[in-house]
Order: sequence, then structure tokens, then C-alpha cells
Amino acid sequence: NLPTVFVITPTFKRFVQKAELTRVYQALKPVKNLHWIVVEDAVNKTDLVANFLKTSGLKYTHLNVRTPDILRRHRNELRRMKPRGVVQRNLGIQWLRENINPHKVSGVIYFADDDNTYDSKIFDEMRWIQRVGVWPVAFTGAVRWAGPLCKNGKVVGFHAKWGRFRPFPIDMAAFAVNLKKLLIDFPNATFVAVEQPGMLESSLLSQITKVEELEPVTPNCSKVYVWHTRTETPKDSILGERQLIKKGMPS
Ligand code: UDP
Ligand code: MN
Repeated sequence: NLPTVFVITPTFKRFVQKAELTRVYQALKPVKNLHWIVVEDAVNKTDLVANFLKTSGLKYTHLNVRTPDILRRHRNELRRMKPRGVVQRNLGIQWLRENINPHKVSGVIYFADDDNTYDSKIFDEMRWIQRVGVWPVAFTGAVRWAGPLCKNGKVVGFHAKWGRFRPFPIDMAAFAVNLKKLLIDFPNATFVAVEQPGMLESSLLSQITKVEELEPVTPNCSKVYVWHTRTETPKDSILGERQLIKKGMPS
């Protein structure tokens, strides 16, 4: 019986959104027993995401919650001071707690941002995680790749140039958690939005695990299967074209 991979993806409306979702979807498509939980940062669900999911052929759940004003970045605030996608990921966890019976279903939970690049292989690696599994992610921590240094099935240190002060100096895309951990063992654990950059991962992980308990995967943290890519915003010239997107136009 193949454990289920639950993938929680926060997403929000912008020009590149459909391109991002397409890239993630193509990585998820070949994976067996996968359930995609897409959480829109919006007051209402959008047709774009609803139609995208409907035609995807994937098993999915479509949710939405708008980031409250206190957590939104204000115009003159530094981007990195406000963690993004926090209430969306927490809603995804809450949905699992309310709808999945961890005594009947085995699986793992993964937080996959819509702008990263994923090799499908990572999902079959994370599927077997018993507690909290970790692996390297490229283009984070101000180095070519950052993440755990592993030896004989243990995490023995971390590689990163930035953020070494963090209890768990790893990216959101660098870990997955066994379903039972968040549904049975720690039913109240959530992400906490603190105003210190890079602390979001640690805010959850420090509630549920210790560095010594982490399980290296890929195997033994030896391969990069996830890239923390970031998509450039299209040139200003197309921003005025919004009115051209009408019925019958390509969309
Ligand atoms: N996101 C969101 N609302 C926002 C900004 C971002 O839901 O206002 C989502 C975004 O789609 C992504 C995740 O939150 O899945 C992380 O955002 P981003 O990639 O901008 O963060 P970074 O990688 O720069 O830390
Ligand atoms: Mn990102």
C-alpha cells in the first residue's frame, strides 16, 4: 500500500501564475498516490485556478484564504520581513486534520511553493518518510545549494551561507513530514509568522522535531531534486494589456 503524498501549495494571482502552476503540475502528474492541496491567497476562489485543477486530472483539493492585512507587506517594507503563504499552508494542514483519518491513511505532507522547480523523483523519495525527512535545495541560503549534510542516515550539519542562526537552517522545499506527526503526535503545530527573515520553517519544525531526529533522503542528501527558482515579473509593457483578456482570447 503506497503512502499518499499530500502536497500543499499556496498560490496568488499574478501574470505568471498559470505558468507556475503548469510547471508544478507537470512535476506532480507522473506521481502515484498524490493529492494536491492548492490554497489561493484570495477572498474568493478564482476561475483560473478552479479550471486549471479541474482539467489537470490530478487528485486535488481547492481552498482559499486571504492573507490578513497585518501579515501583508506594506509598500515601504522590505520583502523578506513578511513571510508569505503562511495562513495558506496552515489552512492546508487544518484541512488534512479535519478530512483525513491518519489511522486509515498513511502518507507525508510537503509544502511546495508554486514558483520552485521540482524533479518528480523527489515525491517518491519523500513518500517513505517516517518522521521528518530532509534534503538539499538549490539556490537558497546564498549558496548554489543549501541544506543538510548527511552521513550514514544522520544529519551531521548544515550547509548555508545565510541564516545559520536558525534552529533548522533549511528551506520550505527541503523537508516533508509524516502525516501522523502533524495529525496525531502534534495536532496543534502550525507555522508561526514571525518578523525575522527565514524563521518560518523553524517555527513549525521546532514544535515537532529535533535536528538529531531528521531523516536524510534523496538518498543521504546526495542529490538536488528541488530548485528554489524565482520567476521574473513580465515587462511593464504588458501590464496595461489587462483589458485585452476577454472571452475568446487565449488565456
Ligand atoms: N504567496 C502567496 N501570497 C503572496 C505571496 C506569495 O500565497 O502574497 C505564495 C507563493 O505563490 C508561493 C509562496 O507563497 O507559493 C511563497 O512565496 P514566494 O515564492 O514569493 O516566497 P519566496 O520564495 O520569495 O520566499
Ligand atoms: Mn519562491
